[in-house]
Amino acid sequence: MFQLILLAAIIYILLQWLRPGKASSPKPRSHADTRGPIEEMVQDPVCGMWVPISQALSLPGEKETRYFCSAECRDKFLNERTNG
Ligand SMILES: [Zn+2]
Repeated sequence: MFQLILLAAIIYILLQWLRPGKASSPKPRSHADTRGPIEEMVQDPVCGMWVPISQALSLPGEKETRYFCSAECRDKFLNERTNG
């Protein structure tokens, strides 16, 4: 009877050992401030940085709305467009 319990314990340990830990997420997120579903990411055309649409600065254009990570990038984009 004891052998059966031991065997079950060994099987249990083996199963636990074989299973890779999927509890830990690959990306550590300090501030879980996102509400609702996965937020849309937009790319800054000036610096190429990806920013969440809620944090991005939007600039409505003739064809499409552009998004920037900061006012600095937005101004840079506007200056480049007006100059060239
Ligand atoms: Zn930028």
